[in-house]
Amino acid sequence: MKGLCFALSILVFIVAQAYAADPVYLDFTAVREIDVTQAPCARSKPFSDAEVLSQISPIGQDEELVDAEINGVHFSHEKPALIELFKKLTTADRAEFQHRAFALKCAKVLCAVQKIFGPQVGPRMLFMLAEFGFNSSPMAFPRDVADRPTQMLKLRELDDVLLSLSDLPKGMMLKHGSNQVLIRAKAAGVADATIELFNGWSEYNSPTRRHVLMHELGHVFGENGVHSSPEWRDIEATGYVSYYAKTAFYEDFAETFAAYRYRPALLLEMSKEKYAFMRDRVFSGIEYTQPEQ
Ligand SMILES: [Zn+2]
Repeated sequence: MKGLCFALSILVFIVAQAYAADPVYLDFTAVREIDVTQAPCARSKPFSDAEVLSQISPIGQDEELVDAEINGVHFSHEKPALIELFKKLTTADRAEFQHRAFALKCAKVLCAVQKIFGPQVGPRMLFMLAEFGFNSSPMAFPRDVADRPTQMLKLRELDDVLLSLSDLPKGMMLKHGSNQVLIRAKAAGVADATIELFNGWSEYNSPTRRHVLMHELGHVFGENGVHSSPEWRDIEATGYVSYYAKTAFYEDFAETFAAYRYRPALLLEMSKEKYAFMRDRVFSGIEYTQPEQ
């Protein structure tokens, strides 16, 4: 018994020291499930089929309709903007995978993407590319950076990706490119900044998928010169939102980005400087500290 008490007192001492080292206990990552489900100005439900279609219909509405043949599909009286999106979704980025000719009888792009990718998945892929500039098509990116084959995102996975993207200010990611990679590859791990989603991401629940993707979107934003700017590096040591943030300046940026969106109170507590940087330099002055009215 005496031995047990001694062991326990040692354990209490070690735990107390661990907490004393940091004024606030840090989790490995900044954002918890509850932070995503209770985040202000965030959708609680995925986009419905009707909402996705209503987002697609205004695309290119002022354009003159044209006829065109893309990858074997003959479009007639279609909007050029939609034809361009179809081209991006079905044309491989590498020459050896090109020359695809679909045997489809579709005069419209919506019909074509529904037949090729699925009646619900196709319109979501079209919406994601048009609205956010991210292309999830394995036909566009048949292999990943490690030359592994890519695969389709399932319907519920695409829903979570769209939820995450819709949590950002409108047009924010589109500024960084209109045909960016956001693909699923069958591999161990969770996700990377290219952006690639792996088996581990698919196994997570919806709020965690949304949070992980927000972290990767932070990398995409940071890699456009922001995370290596002197202004960011100067405030690096002012405070961290997670242990993971301490591993590298770019992980700090991605963790801070995700915390700004889903757990701003923690970020404000850890570093007012980083909060102000995110508000002014990244999120165009939009803040998420107030619950939705
Ligand atoms: Zn990261």
